[in-house]
Amino acid sequence: MEGPFSLLGGQDGGHEQVVFGNDPDSGLRCIVAIYSTALGPALGGTRFYPYASEEDALVDVLRLSKGMAYKAACAGLDLGGGKAVIVGDPAVDKSEALLRAYGRVVESLGGRYVTACDVGTYPADLALVGRETRWATGTDVVEGGSGDSSVLTAYGTYLGIKACLRHVAGSDDLAGRHVAVQGVGKVGYKLAEHLAAEGARLTVSDIDDDATARCAERFGAEVVANDKVHAVDADVYSPNALGGVLNDATIPELQCRVVAGAANNQLLEERHAEDLRAAGVLYAPDYVINAGGLIQVGDELHPDGHCPQRARARVEQIGQRLLEVFAMADTRGVSTETAAELVAERRIASVGRLRGFWLPGR
Ligand code: NAD
Repeated sequence: MEGPFSLLGGQDGGHEQVVFGNDPDSGLRCIVAIYSTALGPALGGTRFYPYASEEDALVDVLRLSKGMAYKAACAGLDLGGGKAVIVGDPAVDKSEALLRAYGRVVESLGGRYVTACDVGTYPADLALVGRETRWATGTDVVEGGSGDSSVLTAYGTYLGIKACLRHVAGSDDLAGRHVAVQGVGKVGYKLAEHLAAEGARLTVSDIDDDATARCAERFGAEVVANDKVHAVDADVYSPNALGGVLNDATIPELQCRVVAGAANNQLLEERHAEDLRAAGVLYAPDYVINAGGLIQVGDELHPDGHCPQRARARVEQIGQRLLEVFAMADTRGVSTETAAELVAERRIASVGRLRGFWLPGR
């Protein structure tokens, strides 16, 4: 961390607020963690997951909420970082009463925490949460939300890939470039569409054979096995499925110049960012390149309501934000992951500080 924060939360290792919610009748057991509100309300999704213990849930929510603060800061948003977890099996334990009880926990925080979808929660769930709180985003358009976030996530990832190519090759022209796309689900498929439309050659992998067959048919994509896709001799390897795909086993096998995709937590451990740097591979930090979804749900908080054009325009800045991270990495001689942290910490400290100057209603 570069210099201490002088205001509000976000001091390294220190969350501003952690709240436990408990409602035995509905079975709700939840934890909301607010890492920082230095830049604005702490926005982050609700993960509904069968954690083995409350301690595991706490460790996860503390880690995830900090990550959200860095993601929002790097995206240039006026949002802090928070996250929530509900302990339970969503297939068994999810009910209207539980979700609405959770909504009341969120409401009790008065807007300091704003929730959205995450693993195990869907727009329809958020609509129920939103019947108890004003601070729920990520619902369907008919419920007043902004709808499917994978559209802007894919668009931002596509623009991010172009920025990476500009950095390593001096041109962001995708014609004739070879991209290996791992995972062609909601984000990966739309990303493939963007890449193919600009003349990129595609190799794809997925555990769903129908999904890869569709890409072969529509884009002429070559299909490879999931455990081989990282090692394809391509310009770009784009992970859009699982986390942990950049590790001791895969990094030595990479043939690409760029790793850039939307999957969360691509680095198995933070040290793997340094391994990528040593291998001469440009890594687009996942939380910078995949910020399109956050930008979209964050836009729902605008006083005039969600505006798709404004959200899209903000997503169009992702390429430039990545180039700033790469410049910082080159100047400091650090990994792009470390550089992204520096960019986020600088903004949290420098812009967050301004809230110490009181203005009426601000
Ligand atoms: P999704 O479930 O629609 O797609 C994931 C795809 O990966 C599926 O087609 C699945 O079959 C495939 N897959 C699963 N295991 C695989 C494996 N071992 N090898 C290859 N493919 C495998 O999810 P999504 O919304 O497209 O999200 C993809 C990634 O992007 C996730 O890591 C997600 O956290 C991240 N992300 C998504 C958004 C968003 O707005 N949807 C935003 C930010 C980050």
